[in-house]
Amino acid sequence: MQNSEIKTTCSYCGVGCGIIVTNDSKNGVTVTGDKNHPVNKGMLCSKGMNLHYVVNDTSDRILYPEMRWSKSHPMERVSWDTALERAAAVFTSIIKKHGPDSVGFYISGQCLTEEYYLVNKLVKGFLKTNNIDTNSRLCMSSAVVGYKKTFGEDAVPIAYDDIELADTFLITGANPAWCHPILFRRIEQHKEKNPKVKIIVIDPRKTDSALNADLHLQIIPGTDIILYHALAKRLIEQGYADTDFIKNHTENFKLYKDLVLASSLEKASKLCGIPVNDIKLAADIIGKAKGFLSLWAMGLNQSAIGVDKNTALLNLSLLTGQVGKPGSGPFSLTGQPNAMGGREVGGMANLLAVHKELNNPVHRKEVADFWGVEDISEKPGLTATEMFDALESGKMKAIWVICTNPLVSLPDSRRVEKALSNAKFVVVQEISHNADTSKFADLLLPAAGWLEKEGTMTNSERRISYLPKGINAPGEALPDVEILTRFAKKMNFSGFNFNTTEDIYKEYCLMTKNTSIDISFLNYNRLKNEGTFQWPVPDYGHPGTPRLFTDKKFYTPSQKAIFNLPTAIENTSEQPSNQFPFILTTGRIRDQWHTMTKTGKVSRLMTHIPSPMLEINPIDAYKAAIKSGDIVVVTSKNGTVRVKAKVSDSIREGVLFLPMHWGKQLENDLNRTNNLTNTVVDPTSKEPDFKFTTVSVAKY
Ligand code: SF4
Repeated sequence: MQNSEIKTTCSYCGVGCGIIVTNDSKNGVTVTGDKNHPVNKGMLCSKGMNLHYVVNDTSDRILYPEMRWSKSHPMERVSWDTALERAAAVFTSIIKKHGPDSVGFYISGQCLTEEYYLVNKLVKGFLKTNNIDTNSRLCMSSAVVGYKKTFGEDAVPIAYDDIELADTFLITGANPAWCHPILFRRIEQHKEKNPKVKIIVIDPRKTDSALNADLHLQIIPGTDIILYHALAKRLIEQGYADTDFIKNHTENFKLYKDLVLASSLEKASKLCGIPVNDIKLAADIIGKAKGFLSLWAMGLNQSAIGVDKNTALLNLSLLTGQVGKPGSGPFSLTGQPNAMGGREVGGMANLLAVHKELNNPVHRKEVADFWGVEDISEKPGLTATEMFDALESGKMKAIWVICTNPLVSLPDSRRVEKALSNAKFVVVQEISHNADTSKFADLLLPAAGWLEKEGTMTNSERRISYLPKGINAPGEALPDVEILTRFAKKMNFSGFNFNTTEDIYKEYCLMTKNTSIDISFLNYNRLKNEGTFQWPVPDYGHPGTPRLFTDKKFYTPSQKAIFNLPTAIENTSEQPSNQFPFILTTGRIRDQWHTMTKTGKVSRLMTHIPSPMLEINPIDAYKAAIKSGDIVVVTSKNGTVRVKAKVSDSIREGVLFLPMHWGKQLENDLNRTNNLTNTVVDPTSKEPDFKFTTVSVAKY
């Protein structure tokens, strides 16, 4: 591409901002916000604004396939044919000896929809195992189950344009000011123009989002459900329940009402660490709202009771009838750019494409027939953490990792290290040598990155966008779909005769016909010429669907939304003890992305927070004689981290915060945050509990 301009979408978070890329032979790639894009209207956050540095700096890129012939051999450069023939030979031999479930694929919410679809077809349809999961398991799997239990399907009901129509925002377990900045900027602008708009934030930390709130409920971690029930009790007692909506469009209200009315505001206040008057005030603001939007992210999802937290929050929207109408609805914020696209094509171990379920024999048959294969295994696949457990125990022998860095991002990093060391064969398909997991690869496959390949993504509001190829990938790097297609052919699998990426998309679109996510009338031409679309798009002239459930008909058998009761009200994670008296919660910082393989190489982004710091409350710091800047040792039952302390009253007493981004030994005496985190997962969503690990802290 010479001196040209193309429109594309940011590769970082699930907001999905439109970007205009200019490329010239002198300056390389530069980026600006797309003023005409419906999501960001020209705005970009610090990460998006600096995306061109990541593209232009190819110094860390993997340029050609590398392989070692055995664990004792060094890595050496090989041709693509040699690399993929070896992969096919090793996978065939392991499957022959140990069965299809002895191999697995661990992929990413950054994969494009075509990649996600293709690799799921390859693994579930042809390798005959359901051992394919994604790092989205660590991000939104609790929200997926919550939506399914409440609405009957994994369906985000809102559009971003509901922001400007809402008058009350409940932001809970999320810090969009840092993690979804452009959406938060839209909320701020809306409030600037309409000062009566109210923002309530529920968070154990005084985040930038909380500092902009009218009311901050600084909750004790893990007590969210207790708080939501107290809010519901107050809403019912003050007459704010929408009785018509509840009567005509919901099920199970009586049991829910009995449960929440039996709760006590005083008891909730004590357990949650929030004054009774603040609980009453929050409920009264929600009750009076004309348009009530709830927004949440990892604070709810990454929990041992993540699904219950989700359904308890969704119940508040049902109770107040705030679904399917302008400016209202529950809105889960997705962390990754295409976590939603992955959900659509069945990108997880328990799902099939087009919102079909693996545990449903009719659905399995429909998908098998569509792919022209005999069947799909009924055995549930291993989820993210389960796959690494299976590698560690030797049940699984080989893993293929695509576009993710589990050594830094999964909980209990030492266990992941052991799992990868124990694996017989590790394939890492990556763009960067900076990904720590690549050190464990027996086969390293260079992948094309953002702008170096074409495909589609879906953002948090179900908006599908087309991302064109703008530049060539460096060296011999190939688009992921091409790598996977070539591998499938080496395995002699039929069903992979795609000439273009568009052919893959066409196959997937056809599969959506007559489903709730029907995009069978969408294609690359429409996306290129008409712009982005929110699914479903069930007709040629259809403009897309900004808001779901406007007819109050849900995807459940009765077409009614369901009030779900939690299986556990209080957090089931290990509670603080004399040995480990603090609750460690982890999260993102403003200018870094995941494990920093991209943002970590942009010097501008390193200036905001150049190194990780442990946030500790002044009272806790005083008791432990810790001052800001001291090196402290944080210990859990899984491991240790040495890090600088930051004494700050932005964190609750008894709670500590560490950013999740940094890997091992990037600076002297720093370690991975996930050395500490526990391996507890939600029993249904299997999402890990990154927000609640008990630890001790002492000055080094
Ligand atoms: Fe990219 Fe998200 Fe920032 Fe938008 S808000 S520019 S999508 S990182």
